[in-house]
Amino acid sequence: MSLLRILTGRIAATGPITLADYMSEALLHPTHGYYSTRDPLGTAGDFTTAPEISQMFGELIGLSLAQSWLDQGAPPAFTLAELGPGRGTLMADILRATAGVPGFHNAMQIALVEASSTLRAIQSTTLQAYAPQWLDGAHALPEQPLYLVANEFFDALPVHQYQRDGDRWRERMVGADGDRLHMGLGPATPQPALAHRLEDTAKDDIVEVCPSASPIINTISTRIRDHGGAALIVDYGDWRSLGDTLQAIKDHKATDPLAAPGTADLTTHVDFEALTQAARCPFTRITPQGVFLERLGITQRAQALAQTLRDAPLEAHVAAHRRLTHPAEMGNLFKVLGLYPTGATPPPGLEP
Ligand code: SAH
Repeated sequence: MSLLRILTGRIAATGPITLADYMSEALLHPTHGYYSTRDPLGTAGDFTTAPEISQMFGELIGLSLAQSWLDQGAPPAFTLAELGPGRGTLMADILRATAGVPGFHNAMQIALVEASSTLRAIQSTTLQAYAPQWLDGAHALPEQPLYLVANEFFDALPVHQYQRDGDRWRERMVGADGDRLHMGLGPATPQPALAHRLEDTAKDDIVEVCPSASPIINTISTRIRDHGGAALIVDYGDWRSLGDTLQAIKDHKATDPLAAPGTADLTTHVDFEALTQAARCPFTRITPQGVFLERLGITQRAQALAQTLRDAPLEAHVAAHRRLTHPAEMGNLFKVLGLYPTGATPPPGLEP
């Protein structure tokens, strides 16, 4: 039975479900979920990400994290963690770039937070030389210094959508009509957690709330506060998100998010303000990805790599540099947020 049939059956029996429930079934249902059943990033995949576009992305992230580690006195045992590691490409690039940092590899213990068993298997092949550990969630991160990266992880977490009605909010719900799913509206209710959004919204505006993001940020920032470390959170979105940002991508093209659950990637823009509200340690301003990578020296790195390339690979390399940094491509849409301990310098690339 398809996930569409399972969900229409469930809705017919017990009523509409929240968008957050729908997203979590579509992405992580154990046998039909999008991430559970496939490698969305492979050559025949549906979308691509910065580390899959160029090795330079992970190399510079690795150097930023390693510099934070050095700046904090090179703690002798620490966790090097990634949330949602995809194919393991970003972590592999981080490890290659940091191999020359004296003591870094000896002191690290690699921890990967990954929900998909398909992707865990690919990560274990990519990273087999390093014996990573897989954790079921951020709560299992060890009590020690934490250097962490998350690229396009928070955009995959389920959100609720609320539409403003006076000073109340109506939740957008997924209903069913025969064998089709459609969006509807629940009753108007007060939402104390959205009090601050009464300032910047008008009638019928939609806001999104991601309840699973806050406990994750809370845990990471508590480890960093208590033991030291740094986190780099990279995603598309802005300081405060407004409107319906749900998008479904299949075969590199936008598609209807409700048409065939489990067969398309679903994401929403990350609300960085909401992430910082859960932080228990200092955080940086959000910095556009292009600015972050330029500050870390992507142009020099691109020129050095270009020396070894010609013809089509050289053209692809130049295009990749542009794609990661140009404001009209990923350079401005993607933002970087850093977390760091009180008294430490912010992660390189995110200086005020
Ligand atoms: N960071 C990678 C992959 C991004 S795709 C890259 O940049 O290429 C999103 C990743 O997050 C996938 O690995 C997916 O399986 C994982 N993921 C999505 N939701 C998750 C959840 N709730 N818990 C743990 N991992 C999750």
